[in-house]
Amino acid sequence: MNHPLFPQALSKSGSLAQRVRQWFDAESEGTTSSASHRIDWVRAIPFVAMHLACLGVIWVGTSTVAVVTAIALYAIRMFALTGFYHRYFSHRAFRTSRAVQFAFALIGASCVQRGPLWWAAHHRNHHRHADTELDPHSPTVYGFLWSHAGWFLTPEAFRTDLDRVTDLRDYPELRWLDRYDIAIPVALALLLFGFGSLLHALVPSWGTSGGQMLIWGFFISTIVLFHATVTINSLAHRFGRRRFPTNDDSRNNTWLALLTFGEGWHNNHHFYPGSARQGFRWWEIDLTWYGLRLLALLGLVWDLKPVPAWVHRKAEY
Ligand SMILES: [Zn+2]
Ligand SMILES: [Zn+2]
Repeated sequence: MNHPLFPQALSKSGSLAQRVRQWFDAESEGTTSSASHRIDWVRAIPFVAMHLACLGVIWVGTSTVAVVTAIALYAIRMFALTGFYHRYFSHRAFRTSRAVQFAFALIGASCVQRGPLWWAAHHRNHHRHADTELDPHSPTVYGFLWSHAGWFLTPEAFRTDLDRVTDLRDYPELRWLDRYDIAIPVALALLLFGFGSLLHALVPSWGTSGGQMLIWGFFISTIVLFHATVTINSLAHRFGRRRFPTNDDSRNNTWLALLTFGEGWHNNHHFYPGSARQGFRWWEIDLTWYGLRLLALLGLVWDLKPVPAWVHRKAEY
């Protein structure tokens, strides 16, 4: 373990902002001397602000409808990330129409994880260099905190390497989502505020409001979704079992697979990233795979790539 969760170099004094900065710097210290591991703190402001906004729940309170909305938005957006941002855009594990491609790109863009081109380009880089110094978010090389919530806050990580996504970069609608990555999240936030205000006026007995729906449906749901997604970077390369002898530290982890709708079968995925399925055995619960099967039944996606027999033969079951 190259870096502990809480680096000892952290100073005991200074403001909270200084201490957080030292914390990140200590995590990446010694791993690289280049500017590529320096956080752009101005760009980090919205990320920190979204966490703080969750505290608004103290003032807006809770209702059943707000919590159900937050959970529903977690589920549909997690599926858009895992099924489309990851398995479709990053790995081309199945095919679909341009309309469905755009629909799920749009839902994915509402997750505040930027556009599909940015996401896919960084993810392809991860697979290419997994757990080496060129991997943008290896926990074994750069530590837990950096792989979880540091790597995307640098000036270099902000840009999209279009050469990594030559198959996607000619779709103007996808380029637009990448260029105006704030548009869809803002639209979702406004919609939720409007929806909550409408319910407040029409069915006051449900006890919700515009502000409450905004905090639960947008801020809390998005922040939980974010942390669940990045556990695959930070934890699924650390904790779990290795079925395949890959060149990285990827692991299969049941808990992470449940949390992320199947992405926790990460050692399977690193060994054979081209499959639409990441739970390779019937008992490996993979909600994204079931969802994709359903979309295939409806004719919305097709050519779901299977796990070849030779992969099963290589497995250490
Ligand atoms: Zn990985
Ligand atoms: Zn992948």
